[in-house]
Amino acid sequence: MKPMKMSRLYAPTLKEDPTEAELASHRLLLRAGMIRKEAAGLYTYLPLAWRSIMKIENIVRDEMDNAGAQELMMPIMVDADLWRQSGRIDAYGKELIRFHDRHEREFVLGPTHEETVTALVRNELRSYKQLPVNLYHIQDKFRDEFRPRYGLMRGREFIMKDGYSFSATQESLQEEYDKMKAAYANICVRCGLKALPVVADTGQIGGDTSVEFMALADAGEASLVYCDCCGFAADDEAATTKVPVLDGPGNGVLTKIETPGVHSIEDLAKFLDVPENATVKSLCIIDAEGNPVLALVPGDHELNDCKAEHVFGEGYRMMTDEELEGFGLPKGSIGPVNLPEGIRIVCDATLEDVHSWGCGANVDGYHFIGVEPGRDFTADEWADIVTVVAGDPCPHCGKPLSAARGIEVSQVFQLGTKYSEAMGATFMDEDGKDKPLIMGCYGVGVSRTLAAVVEQHNDENGIVWPVSVAPYEVSIVPLDVNDELVWPAAQKVADELSQAGIEVVIDDRKERPGVKFADNDLMGFPYQLVFGKRAVKNGCCELKDRATGERVEVSIDEVAEKVA
Ligand code: ATP
Ligand code: MG
Ligand code: MG
Ligand code: MG
Repeated sequence: MKPMKMSRLYAPTLKEDPTEAELASHRLLLRAGMIRKEAAGLYTYLPLAWRSIMKIENIVRDEMDNAGAQELMMPIMVDADLWRQSGRIDAYGKELIRFHDRHEREFVLGPTHEETVTALVRNELRSYKQLPVNLYHIQDKFRDEFRPRYGLMRGREFIMKDGYSFSATQESLQEEYDKMKAAYANICVRCGLKALPVVADTGQIGGDTSVEFMALADAGEASLVYCDCCGFAADDEAATTKVPVLDGPGNGVLTKIETPGVHSIEDLAKFLDVPENATVKSLCIIDAEGNPVLALVPGDHELNDCKAEHVFGEGYRMMTDEELEGFGLPKGSIGPVNLPEGIRIVCDATLEDVHSWGCGANVDGYHFIGVEPGRDFTADEWADIVTVVAGDPCPHCGKPLSAARGIEVSQVFQLGTKYSEAMGATFMDEDGKDKPLIMGCYGVGVSRTLAAVVEQHNDENGIVWPVSVAPYEVSIVPLDVNDELVWPAAQKVADELSQAGIEVVIDDRKERPGVKFADNDLMGFPYQLVFGKRAVKNGCCELKDRATGERVEVSIDEVAEKVA
């Protein structure tokens, strides 16, 4: 690619801050001549922004393809009938924009494409042998947001990568989901975003069936608490984390449940086929390694009429008081039992945590959670949600939590069979039976990512692009384009860098140095090569690092090598 001439670049910069822009990203993208508004929530990406968008898209593509997903492209217009089949036509509300074609057939503009993709595969993915399949596209989405604002951050038409996986089993879905989650973390890193994965699902206690990636920024709409130490992060919408309490105020905390469909003691009881009249107030736990198995049973309670085998099935029993005593545990409180296969309630607590709660004990490396005789917990308490705020100890590692605000840049979601069941997308399983496809969906806000990057990377002079998503990597700034030494030297270096595969813009405008510096800083090119008369005479130019402001003299002959 040849160097881009700044005089030809369509990037009308603004001297003044636009009044309508509250956020740094909105303000700077407008000022740097990167976006222009057409109407509320509708923006044109001018050439500089479009180059950055394409870079983000390519990072997304690379990560998706590496994770085994395949790119395709579905139509933006979606037959409203599909949305009727899924039942979302009414549920989605006014964000869904609808219209009729000339034949009076109703359509919507896809705000997301679960319906389209489910309809696509329902007649063609027919056998478990074809699964899993993971499909994605990068496309304009339309949502008639009530309050489009903050420029690209909350648009009505915006660019999203949306992906969908189809699996035959929950395990396979989990695999796809985990791959997507890892890819999403990479995407953030590669775009230069400091982001945290936040468990987003409210329906499932402690379960990780949906994670949002939150780019940390003061301008973010979500408020978060997070732990610098172990990476724990939680959405703070109601200042809560989705972590169940075990044993009363602020103590034992379970952080993860891996039993599909089991989210409470009642679920567990159902799972274990406990007679309906039994009062169930106990719980089994094994640790992350899968070894220790605990039955947590409050001592002096109705549970006395509910035998252990009712709770855990035949052949299971509570520890006797003697056994407990042998382990140095309070009588009637805790006892390891055997657990039916498939039950995995994982306790993330470390032994240290348990001890710090004051009532734990360690038996052969087993982690016991503090439950004291007489101190009970009910199913409701179990389902209770710990409220943590900044300064509280992290539920994982106990270190103090920090507060932050975040921008939701992407989300991964285990859908299960919601759409496949509603829309009749089934496959024939190994056992010859027809079953609904098990789905996951995965979205990256591409245009919002651009805004989030600017939100995290700017200073008083403008944008400070990370190299990976900069519209151009290097700008070459000859201070006097009429000078017989300066201009040829600048042009030569521009050509050399271009030939070396570096994306270069050359500021060939007949503007004052001050104007050039201001524009180049505003546009935020990561490296600027300034060609002044005196330096060029000495065979040098000045390399400026936009991020640090550092300037070094480099020899014109070596500059290509140095920058590359
Ligand atoms: P939000 O909570 O901000 O409304 P969402 O949860 O409705 O977002 P998803 O349905 O999860 O959004 O869509 C996937 C991604 O698309 C989001 O994580 C976000 O990055 C992006 N996105 C969603 N709505 C918009 C919008 N109005 N403008 C720009 N990007 C958006
Ligand atoms: Mg939304
Ligand atoms: Mg959201
Ligand atoms: Mg979301």
